Amino acid sequence: MKRAIVVGSGAGGATAAKELQGKFDVTVLEAGKEFKPLKISLSFMETIKRTGLLFDEREIQLIFPTIKIRKNKEMVLVNGIGLGGTTTICTGNALRMDHDLKGLGINLDDEFVEIYQEIPVNTKHQNRWRKHAQRLFEIGQEMDLYPQPTPKMGNYEKCVHCGRCVLGCPQGVKWDSRRYLKIAQEKGAKIITGCKVEKVEIENGKSRGVWARKGITNRFYPADLIILAAGGFATPVILQNSGVTCEPNLFVDPVLCVATEWKDCQQQREVEMPFVIQNQGFIISPYFDYLSFFFNPTWNYPAKDILGIMIKLADSNIGSISKRGVRKTLTTEDKQGLKQGVEICIEILRRFGASEDNIFLGTINAGHPGGMLPLTEQEAKTLHSERLPENLYIADATLIPKALGNPPILTIIAIAKRVSKICNQKF
Ligand SMILES: Cc1cc2nc3c(=O)[nH]c(=O)nc-3n(C[C@H](O)[C@H](O)[C@H](O)COP(=O)(O)OP(=O)(O)OC[C@H]3O[C@@H](n4cnc5c(N)ncnc54)[C@H](O)[C@@H]3O)c2cc1C
Ligand code: SF4
Repeated sequence: MKRAIVVGSGAGGATAAKELQGKFDVTVLEAGKEFKPLKISLSFMETIKRTGLLFDEREIQLIFPTIKIRKNKEMVLVNGIGLGGTTTICTGNALRMDHDLKGLGINLDDEFVEIYQEIPVNTKHQNRWRKHAQRLFEIGQEMDLYPQPTPKMGNYEKCVHCGRCVLGCPQGVKWDSRRYLKIAQEKGAKIITGCKVEKVEIENGKSRGVWARKGITNRFYPADLIILAAGGFATPVILQNSGVTCEPNLFVDPVLCVATEWKDCQQQREVEMPFVIQNQGFIISPYFDYLSFFFNPTWNYPAKDILGIMIKLADSNIGSISKRGVRKTLTTEDKQGLKQGVEICIEILRRFGASEDNIFLGTINAGHPGGMLPLTEQEAKTLHSERLPENLYIADATLIPKALGNPPILTIIAIAKRVSKICNQKF
Protein backbone atom coordinates (compact mmCIF):
# COMPACT_ATOMS: atom_id res chain seq x y z
CA MET A 1 0.00 0.00 0.00
CA LYS A 2 1.18 3.53 -0.72
CA ARG A 3 2.39 5.52 2.29
CA ALA A 4 0.90 8.89 3.26
CA ILE A 5 2.27 11.24 5.88
CA VAL A 6 -0.20 13.65 7.46
CA VAL A 7 1.46 16.50 9.35
CA GLY A 8 -0.67 17.71 12.29
CA SER A 9 -3.69 16.21 14.01
CA GLY A 10 -6.08 19.16 14.32
CA ALA A 11 -9.22 19.87 12.30
CA GLY A 12 -7.58 19.32 8.90
CA GLY A 13 -5.01 16.64 9.78
CA ALA A 14 -7.34 14.31 11.67
CA THR A 15 -9.87 14.53 8.85
CA ALA A 16 -7.27 13.71 6.21
CA ALA A 17 -5.94 10.78 8.29
CA LYS A 18 -9.44 9.32 8.63
CA GLU A 19 -10.30 9.77 4.96
CA LEU A 20 -7.00 8.51 3.54
CA GLN A 21 -6.34 5.51 5.79
CA GLY A 22 -7.26 2.36 3.87
CA LYS A 23 -6.34 3.60 0.44
CA PHE A 24 -3.04 4.71 1.98
CA ASP A 25 -1.04 3.52 4.92
CA VAL A 26 -1.23 6.73 6.95
CA THR A 27 1.22 8.01 9.55
CA VAL A 28 0.28 11.17 11.41
CA LEU A 29 3.24 13.21 12.63
CA GLU A 30 2.17 15.48 15.46
CA ALA A 31 4.47 18.02 17.13
CA GLY A 32 2.65 17.98 20.49
CA LYS A 33 1.73 15.32 22.99
CA GLU A 34 -1.50 13.70 24.24
CA PHE A 35 -4.05 16.34 25.18
CA LYS A 36 -5.12 16.77 28.81
CA PRO A 37 -7.66 19.38 29.96
CA LEU A 38 -6.30 21.93 32.44
CA LYS A 39 -7.06 20.58 35.92
CA ILE A 40 -6.23 23.67 37.99
CA SER A 41 -9.34 25.39 39.36
CA LEU A 42 -10.20 28.96 38.52
CA SER A 43 -10.22 29.91 42.21
CA PHE A 44 -6.62 28.68 42.52
CA MET A 45 -5.68 30.73 39.43
CA GLU A 46 -7.38 33.76 41.02
CA THR A 47 -5.19 33.28 44.10
CA ILE A 48 -2.06 33.24 41.90
CA LYS A 49 -3.35 36.30 40.05
CA ARG A 50 -3.64 38.22 43.34
CA THR A 51 0.07 37.63 44.02
CA GLY A 52 0.89 39.62 40.86
CA LEU A 53 2.73 36.68 39.32
CA LEU A 54 0.56 36.64 36.19
CA PHE A 55 1.76 39.42 33.91
CA ASP A 56 2.56 37.85 30.54
CA GLU A 57 0.18 35.66 28.50
CA ARG A 58 3.05 33.33 27.59
CA GLU A 59 3.11 32.11 31.21
CA ILE A 60 -0.07 30.11 30.52
CA GLN A 61 2.06 27.65 28.53
CA LEU A 62 3.80 26.62 31.76
CA ILE A 63 0.64 25.23 33.29
CA PHE A 64 -1.24 24.36 30.09
CA PRO A 65 1.27 23.27 27.41
CA THR A 66 -1.48 22.73 24.83
CA ILE A 67 -1.71 26.49 24.37
CA LYS A 68 0.96 28.09 22.25
CA ILE A 69 1.20 31.89 22.59
CA ARG A 70 2.96 34.32 20.30
CA LYS A 71 2.87 38.03 21.03
CA ASN A 72 3.44 41.32 19.35
CA LYS A 73 2.69 44.89 20.40
CA GLU A 74 -0.91 44.74 19.23
CA MET A 75 -2.14 41.26 19.94
CA VAL A 76 -1.68 37.85 21.45
CA LEU A 77 -1.77 34.98 18.95
CA VAL A 78 -3.05 31.64 20.15
CA ASN A 79 -3.09 28.11 18.80
CA GLY A 80 -3.22 24.57 20.12
CA ILE A 81 -0.29 22.13 20.10
CA GLY A 82 -0.99 18.48 20.78
CA LEU A 83 -3.25 15.66 19.67
CA GLY A 84 -6.42 17.27 18.37
CA GLY A 85 -4.65 20.56 17.63
CA THR A 86 -6.63 23.72 18.35
CA THR A 87 -9.94 21.82 18.28
CA THR A 88 -9.35 20.61 21.87
CA ILE A 89 -9.42 24.19 23.18
CA CYS A 90 -12.22 25.43 20.95
CA THR A 91 -15.58 26.58 22.21
CA GLY A 92 -17.45 23.99 20.16
CA ASN A 93 -18.98 26.41 17.65
CA ALA A 94 -20.06 24.68 14.46
CA LEU A 95 -20.78 27.10 11.64
CA ARG A 96 -20.67 26.46 7.92
CA MET A 97 -18.58 29.28 6.44
CA ASP A 98 -17.72 28.33 2.85
CA HIS A 99 -19.36 31.20 0.91
CA ASP A 100 -16.00 32.57 -0.32
CA LEU A 101 -14.99 29.11 -1.50
CA LYS A 102 -18.30 28.76 -3.32
CA GLY A 103 -17.49 32.09 -4.99
CA LEU A 104 -14.33 30.46 -6.38
CA GLY A 105 -16.34 27.54 -7.77
CA ILE A 106 -15.64 25.11 -4.90
CA ASN A 107 -18.89 23.47 -3.93
CA LEU A 108 -18.53 21.57 -0.64
CA ASP A 109 -22.19 20.58 -0.22
CA ASP A 110 -21.43 16.83 -0.24
CA GLU A 111 -18.68 17.22 2.34
CA PHE A 112 -21.00 19.18 4.65
CA VAL A 113 -23.67 16.47 4.33
CA GLU A 114 -21.04 13.95 5.52
CA ILE A 115 -19.94 16.23 8.35
CA TYR A 116 -23.47 16.63 9.71
CA GLN A 117 -23.87 12.83 9.60
CA GLU A 118 -20.62 12.29 11.51
CA ILE A 119 -20.54 15.13 14.03
CA PRO A 120 -23.51 15.88 16.30
CA VAL A 121 -24.36 19.57 15.94
CA ASN A 122 -27.13 21.19 17.95
CA THR A 123 -28.20 24.13 20.12
CA LYS A 124 -29.35 22.07 23.11
CA HIS A 125 -27.16 24.14 25.45
CA GLN A 126 -29.80 26.88 25.14
CA ASN A 127 -32.15 25.05 27.54
CA ARG A 128 -29.82 25.81 30.44
CA TRP A 129 -28.55 29.32 29.77
CA ARG A 130 -27.97 31.45 32.83
CA LYS A 131 -30.01 34.61 33.33
CA HIS A 132 -27.37 36.96 31.92
CA ALA A 133 -27.07 34.99 28.64
CA GLN A 134 -30.84 34.96 28.25
CA ARG A 135 -31.08 38.71 28.93
CA LEU A 136 -28.22 39.56 26.54
CA PHE A 137 -29.95 37.49 23.87
CA GLU A 138 -33.21 39.43 24.40
CA ILE A 139 -31.34 42.73 24.19
CA GLY A 140 -29.84 41.61 20.88
CA GLN A 141 -33.36 40.91 19.64
CA GLU A 142 -34.62 44.29 20.91
CA MET A 143 -31.79 45.99 19.00
CA ASP A 144 -32.71 44.08 15.80
CA LEU A 145 -29.29 42.39 15.76
CA TYR A 146 -30.81 38.94 15.08
CA PRO A 147 -28.88 36.88 17.65
CA GLN A 148 -28.93 33.14 16.95
CA PRO A 149 -28.17 30.35 19.46
CA THR A 150 -24.77 29.00 18.40
CA PRO A 151 -24.80 25.50 16.92
CA LYS A 152 -22.27 23.46 18.91
CA MET A 153 -20.51 20.22 18.04
CA GLY A 154 -20.79 17.51 20.63
CA ASN A 155 -23.21 15.92 23.05
CA TYR A 156 -24.41 19.15 24.62
CA GLU A 157 -27.30 17.51 26.43
CA LYS A 158 -24.54 16.45 28.87
CA CYS A 159 -22.97 19.93 29.14
CA VAL A 160 -22.66 21.00 32.79
CA HIS A 161 -22.11 24.67 31.87
CA CYS A 162 -18.78 24.80 33.69
CA GLY A 163 -17.42 27.42 31.27
CA ARG A 164 -14.06 25.67 30.81
CA CYS A 165 -14.43 24.98 27.07
CA VAL A 166 -11.19 26.75 26.12
CA LEU A 167 -9.28 24.86 28.83
CA GLY A 168 -10.40 21.48 27.48
CA CYS A 169 -13.81 20.02 28.27
CA PRO A 170 -13.51 17.95 31.48
CA GLN A 171 -16.78 16.12 30.64
CA GLY A 172 -15.86 15.05 27.10
CA VAL A 173 -18.96 16.87 25.83
CA LYS A 174 -17.36 18.90 23.08
CA TRP A 175 -16.44 17.23 19.82
CA ASP A 176 -12.80 17.58 18.90
CA SER A 177 -10.71 16.07 16.13
CA ARG A 178 -9.38 13.27 18.35
CA ARG A 179 -12.65 11.48 17.53
CA TYR A 180 -11.63 11.38 13.85
CA LEU A 181 -8.10 10.34 14.85
CA LYS A 182 -9.52 7.41 16.79
CA ILE A 183 -11.42 6.23 13.70
CA ALA A 184 -8.24 6.58 11.62
CA GLN A 185 -6.29 4.57 14.22
CA GLU A 186 -8.95 1.85 14.34
CA LYS A 187 -8.55 1.54 10.57
CA GLY A 188 -4.78 1.15 11.00
CA ALA A 189 -3.29 4.65 10.94
CA LYS A 190 -0.18 5.27 13.06
CA ILE A 191 0.25 8.39 15.14
CA ILE A 192 3.65 9.64 16.24
CA THR A 193 3.57 12.43 18.84
CA GLY A 194 6.37 14.77 19.87
CA CYS A 195 7.45 14.81 16.23
CA LYS A 196 7.91 18.28 14.76
CA VAL A 197 8.12 18.36 10.98
CA GLU A 198 10.61 20.90 9.70
CA LYS A 199 10.65 20.50 5.95
CA VAL A 200 9.47 18.48 3.00
CA GLU A 201 12.23 16.90 0.95
CA ILE A 202 11.55 17.82 -2.68
CA GLU A 203 13.55 16.22 -5.49
CA ASN A 204 12.93 16.61 -9.23
CA GLY A 205 9.52 18.19 -8.59
CA LYS A 206 8.36 15.37 -6.30
CA SER A 207 8.17 15.16 -2.51
CA ARG A 208 10.10 12.20 -1.17
CA GLY A 209 9.16 12.56 2.48
CA VAL A 210 9.58 14.90 5.43
CA TRP A 211 12.34 15.74 7.87
CA ALA A 212 11.17 15.91 11.46
CA ARG A 213 12.67 16.47 14.87
CA LYS A 214 11.81 13.92 17.53
CA GLY A 215 13.54 14.56 20.84
CA ILE A 216 17.12 15.31 19.97
CA THR A 217 17.15 13.36 16.73
CA ASN A 218 16.36 14.48 13.20
CA ARG A 219 14.58 11.78 11.20
CA PHE A 220 13.50 11.34 7.63
CA TYR A 221 10.01 9.86 7.05
CA PRO A 222 9.60 8.70 3.44
CA ALA A 223 6.15 8.91 1.81
CA ASP A 224 4.32 8.69 -1.52
CA LEU A 225 1.86 11.40 -0.49
CA ILE A 226 2.28 14.24 2.00
CA ILE A 227 -0.55 16.26 3.50
CA LEU A 228 0.42 19.36 5.44
CA ALA A 229 -2.14 20.25 8.13
CA ALA A 230 0.01 21.85 10.80
CA GLY A 231 -2.30 24.88 11.00
CA GLY A 232 -2.20 28.43 9.66
CA PHE A 233 0.91 29.37 11.66
CA ALA A 234 3.02 26.24 11.08
CA THR A 235 2.18 25.00 7.56
CA PRO A 236 3.56 28.19 5.91
CA VAL A 237 6.84 27.80 7.83
CA ILE A 238 7.22 24.17 6.72
CA LEU A 239 6.49 25.23 3.12
CA GLN A 240 9.06 28.04 3.21
CA ASN A 241 11.66 25.72 4.77
CA SER A 242 10.99 23.41 1.79
CA GLY A 243 11.53 26.16 -0.79
CA VAL A 244 7.84 26.91 -1.49
CA THR A 245 6.93 30.60 -1.41
CA CYS A 246 3.78 31.64 0.45
CA GLU A 247 1.66 34.77 0.18
CA PRO A 248 1.80 37.54 2.84
CA ASN A 249 -1.97 37.08 3.32
CA LEU A 250 -2.08 35.93 6.93
CA PHE A 251 -5.39 36.50 8.68
CA VAL A 252 -6.06 35.67 12.32
CA ASP A 253 -9.62 36.80 13.26
CA PRO A 254 -8.70 39.14 16.16
CA VAL A 255 -10.96 39.03 19.21
CA LEU A 256 -11.58 41.99 21.49
CA CYS A 257 -13.78 41.68 24.58
CA VAL A 258 -15.87 44.46 26.05
CA ALA A 259 -16.70 43.77 29.68
CA THR A 260 -18.26 45.21 32.77
CA GLU A 261 -18.46 44.40 36.45
CA TRP A 262 -21.76 42.64 37.16
CA LYS A 263 -22.00 41.18 40.63
CA ASP A 264 -22.39 37.42 40.73
CA CYS A 265 -23.37 37.04 37.06
CA GLN A 266 -21.25 33.83 37.02
CA GLN A 267 -20.48 34.10 33.30
CA GLN A 268 -17.33 32.04 33.92
CA ARG A 269 -19.73 29.13 34.48
CA GLU A 270 -21.65 29.53 31.24
CA VAL A 271 -21.02 27.68 28.00
CA GLU A 272 -18.74 30.02 25.99
CA MET A 273 -20.36 31.91 23.09
CA PRO A 274 -23.95 30.74 23.68
CA PHE A 275 -25.29 32.84 20.84
CA VAL A 276 -23.87 34.78 17.96
CA ILE A 277 -24.76 38.05 16.24
CA GLN A 278 -23.53 38.29 12.65
CA ASN A 279 -22.53 41.75 11.51
CA GLN A 280 -20.77 43.08 8.42
CA GLY A 281 -17.13 42.08 9.01
CA PHE A 282 -17.44 40.81 12.59
CA ILE A 283 -19.47 38.72 14.99
CA ILE A 284 -20.52 39.50 18.55
CA SER A 285 -20.98 36.86 21.23
CA PRO A 286 -20.95 36.62 25.05
CA TYR A 287 -17.57 35.36 26.21
CA PHE A 288 -15.65 35.04 29.45
CA ASP A 289 -12.14 35.97 28.31
CA TYR A 290 -9.67 33.90 30.37
CA LEU A 291 -6.58 35.50 28.84
CA SER A 292 -7.72 39.01 29.73
CA PHE A 293 -8.95 37.88 33.12
CA PHE A 294 -5.59 36.32 34.02
CA PHE A 295 -3.20 38.81 32.44
CA ASN A 296 -4.87 42.17 31.74
CA PRO A 297 -4.41 44.43 34.80
CA THR A 298 -7.66 46.31 34.10
CA TRP A 299 -9.63 43.08 34.62
CA ASN A 300 -9.49 43.62 38.32
CA TYR A 301 -12.68 41.95 39.57
CA PRO A 302 -13.45 38.43 40.76
CA ALA A 303 -14.22 36.10 37.83
CA LYS A 304 -17.84 35.64 39.00
CA ASP A 305 -18.44 39.40 38.74
CA ILE A 306 -17.27 39.93 35.14
CA LEU A 307 -19.63 39.98 32.17
CA GLY A 308 -17.99 40.09 28.75
CA ILE A 309 -18.95 40.21 25.10
CA MET A 310 -16.49 39.44 22.32
CA ILE A 311 -16.06 41.00 18.93
CA LYS A 312 -14.42 38.61 16.48
CA LEU A 313 -13.22 40.47 13.43
CA ALA A 314 -12.64 39.28 9.87
CA ASP A 315 -9.29 41.09 9.59
CA SER A 316 -7.49 42.24 6.44
CA ASN A 317 -5.43 39.50 4.79
CA ILE A 318 -2.19 41.28 5.48
CA GLY A 319 0.55 39.62 7.47
CA SER A 320 2.97 36.73 7.40
CA ILE A 321 4.79 34.16 9.45
CA SER A 322 8.21 32.67 8.85
CA LYS A 323 10.84 31.01 11.01
CA ARG A 324 11.92 34.53 11.99
CA GLY A 325 8.51 35.20 13.56
CA VAL A 326 5.09 36.61 12.88
CA ARG A 327 4.27 39.95 11.26
CA LYS A 328 0.71 40.96 11.85
CA THR A 329 -0.75 44.35 12.68
CA LEU A 330 -4.23 45.81 12.53
CA THR A 331 -4.97 47.98 9.49
CA THR A 332 -6.97 51.20 9.71
CA GLU A 333 -9.97 49.27 8.38
CA ASP A 334 -9.52 46.57 11.05
CA LYS A 335 -9.40 49.23 13.77
CA GLN A 336 -12.58 50.80 12.41
CA GLY A 337 -14.32 47.40 12.44
CA LEU A 338 -13.31 46.83 16.06
CA LYS A 339 -14.44 50.34 17.01
CA GLN A 340 -17.85 49.75 15.48
CA GLY A 341 -18.10 46.42 17.34
CA VAL A 342 -17.12 48.07 20.63
CA GLU A 343 -19.89 50.66 20.20
CA ILE A 344 -22.51 47.93 19.70
CA CYS A 345 -21.22 45.96 22.71
CA ILE A 346 -21.28 49.07 24.90
CA GLU A 347 -24.89 49.70 23.90
CA ILE A 348 -25.80 46.08 24.72
CA LEU A 349 -24.13 46.34 28.13
CA ARG A 350 -25.72 49.75 28.76
CA ARG A 351 -29.17 48.29 28.07
CA PHE A 352 -28.25 45.39 30.36
CA GLY A 353 -27.80 47.95 33.13
CA ALA A 354 -24.05 48.56 33.15
CA SER A 355 -22.78 52.07 33.73
CA GLU A 356 -20.62 53.32 30.88
CA ASP A 357 -17.78 54.36 33.18
CA ASN A 358 -17.50 50.77 34.38
CA ILE A 359 -16.95 49.20 30.97
CA PHE A 360 -13.45 48.02 30.09
CA LEU A 361 -11.71 46.34 27.17
CA GLY A 362 -9.75 43.10 26.99
CA THR A 363 -6.46 42.23 25.36
CA ILE A 364 -6.75 41.60 21.62
CA ASN A 365 -6.16 37.91 21.00
CA ALA A 366 -6.48 35.88 17.85
CA GLY A 367 -6.73 32.15 17.21
CA HIS A 368 -7.93 31.52 13.65
CA PRO A 369 -4.75 31.76 11.54
CA GLY A 370 -4.78 30.98 7.84
CA GLY A 371 -4.60 32.32 4.32
CA MET A 372 -0.94 32.03 3.32
CA LEU A 373 -1.46 29.75 0.31
CA PRO A 374 -5.02 30.74 -0.56
CA LEU A 375 -7.08 28.71 -3.03
CA THR A 376 -7.83 30.42 -6.33
CA GLU A 377 -10.48 29.96 -9.02
CA GLN A 378 -7.96 28.04 -11.17
CA GLU A 379 -7.53 25.53 -8.32
CA ALA A 380 -11.26 24.97 -7.79
CA LYS A 381 -11.12 21.40 -9.13
CA THR A 382 -7.71 20.35 -7.84
CA LEU A 383 -7.37 22.24 -4.51
CA HIS A 384 -3.69 22.13 -5.38
CA SER A 385 -1.34 25.02 -6.06
CA GLU A 386 1.08 24.78 -8.99
CA ARG A 387 3.79 25.79 -6.54
CA LEU A 388 3.54 22.42 -4.86
CA PRO A 389 4.95 19.12 -6.07
CA GLU A 390 2.14 16.91 -7.41
CA ASN A 391 2.21 14.62 -4.36
CA LEU A 392 2.19 17.41 -1.74
CA TYR A 393 -1.18 18.79 -0.59
CA ILE A 394 -2.37 21.16 2.11
CA ALA A 395 -5.46 20.43 4.19
CA ASP A 396 -5.80 23.21 6.74
CA ALA A 397 -6.72 26.88 7.14
CA THR A 398 -3.71 27.91 5.03
CA LEU A 399 -5.95 27.33 1.98
CA ILE A 400 -8.80 29.62 3.10
CA PRO A 401 -8.76 32.67 0.83
CA LYS A 402 -10.11 35.33 3.22
CA ALA A 403 -10.64 35.84 6.94
CA LEU A 404 -13.98 34.36 7.97
CA GLY A 405 -14.37 36.36 11.18
CA ASN A 406 -16.22 33.23 12.24
CA PRO A 407 -15.49 29.74 13.58
CA PRO A 408 -13.64 27.85 10.82
CA ILE A 409 -13.47 24.21 12.03
CA LEU A 410 -16.33 22.78 9.96
CA THR A 411 -15.09 24.54 6.85
CA ILE A 412 -11.54 23.25 7.37
CA ILE A 413 -12.91 19.73 7.82
CA ALA A 414 -14.89 20.08 4.58
CA ILE A 415 -11.78 21.26 2.71
CA ALA A 416 -9.72 18.38 4.15
CA LYS A 417 -12.39 15.91 3.09
CA ARG A 418 -12.32 17.24 -0.48
CA VAL A 419 -8.51 17.19 -0.59
CA SER A 420 -8.58 13.58 0.62
CA LYS A 421 -11.15 12.58 -2.03
CA ILE A 422 -8.95 14.12 -4.72
CA CYS A 423 -5.89 12.23 -3.44
CA ASN A 424 -7.79 8.95 -3.09
CA GLN A 425 -8.79 9.21 -6.75
CA LYS A 426 -5.52 10.56 -8.12
CA PHE A 427 -2.94 8.23 -6.57
C1 LIG B 1 -9.40 29.51 22.06
C2 LIG B 1 -9.89 29.11 20.69
C3 LIG B 1 -11.23 28.74 20.54
C4 LIG B 1 -11.68 28.36 19.26
N1 LIG B 1 -13.00 27.98 19.13
C5 LIG B 1 -13.46 27.59 17.92
C6 LIG B 1 -14.79 27.13 17.76
O1 LIG B 1 -15.57 27.10 18.71
N2 LIG B 1 -15.18 26.73 16.52
C7 LIG B 1 -14.36 26.78 15.45
O2 LIG B 1 -14.81 26.46 14.34
N3 LIG B 1 -13.09 27.22 15.56
C8 LIG B 1 -12.61 27.60 16.79
N4 LIG B 1 -11.31 27.97 16.92
C9 LIG B 1 -10.41 27.90 15.77
C10 LIG B 1 -10.07 26.46 15.40
O3 LIG B 1 -9.82 25.68 16.54
C11 LIG B 1 -8.87 26.44 14.47
O4 LIG B 1 -9.03 27.42 13.48
C12 LIG B 1 -8.76 25.05 13.80
O5 LIG B 1 -8.58 24.04 14.76
C13 LIG B 1 -7.59 25.08 12.83
O6 LIG B 1 -7.49 23.81 12.23
P1 LIG B 1 -6.13 23.39 11.51
O7 LIG B 1 -6.26 21.99 11.09
O8 LIG B 1 -5.83 24.44 10.49
O9 LIG B 1 -5.02 23.55 12.66
P2 LIG B 1 -4.95 23.00 14.15
O10 LIG B 1 -6.27 22.49 14.63
O11 LIG B 1 -4.30 24.09 14.94
O12 LIG B 1 -3.98 21.75 14.04
C14 LIG B 1 -2.64 21.86 13.69
C15 LIG B 1 -1.88 20.70 14.29
O13 LIG B 1 -0.57 20.64 13.77
C16 LIG B 1 0.37 20.42 14.82
N5 LIG B 1 1.65 20.97 14.39
C17 LIG B 1 2.03 22.28 14.33
N6 LIG B 1 3.25 22.40 13.82
C18 LIG B 1 3.67 21.13 13.52
C19 LIG B 1 4.85 20.60 12.96
N7 LIG B 1 5.86 21.39 12.58
N8 LIG B 1 4.96 19.24 12.83
C20 LIG B 1 3.94 18.42 13.21
N9 LIG B 1 2.79 18.90 13.75
C21 LIG B 1 2.65 20.22 13.89
C22 LIG B 1 -0.25 21.10 16.02
O14 LIG B 1 0.24 20.59 17.24
C23 LIG B 1 -1.72 20.78 15.80
O15 LIG B 1 -2.07 19.53 16.35
C24 LIG B 1 -10.81 28.37 18.18
C25 LIG B 1 -9.48 28.75 18.33
C26 LIG B 1 -9.02 29.11 19.59
C27 LIG B 1 -7.58 29.50 19.75
S1 SF4 C 1 -19.33 24.31 29.35
FE1 SF4 C 1 -18.05 22.73 30.36
S2 SF4 C 1 -19.15 20.80 30.01
FE2 SF4 C 1 -20.02 22.31 28.60
S3 SF4 C 1 -18.83 22.01 26.72
FE3 SF4 C 1 -17.82 23.66 27.83
S4 SF4 C 1 -16.24 22.63 29.03
FE4 SF4 C 1 -17.67 21.03 28.35
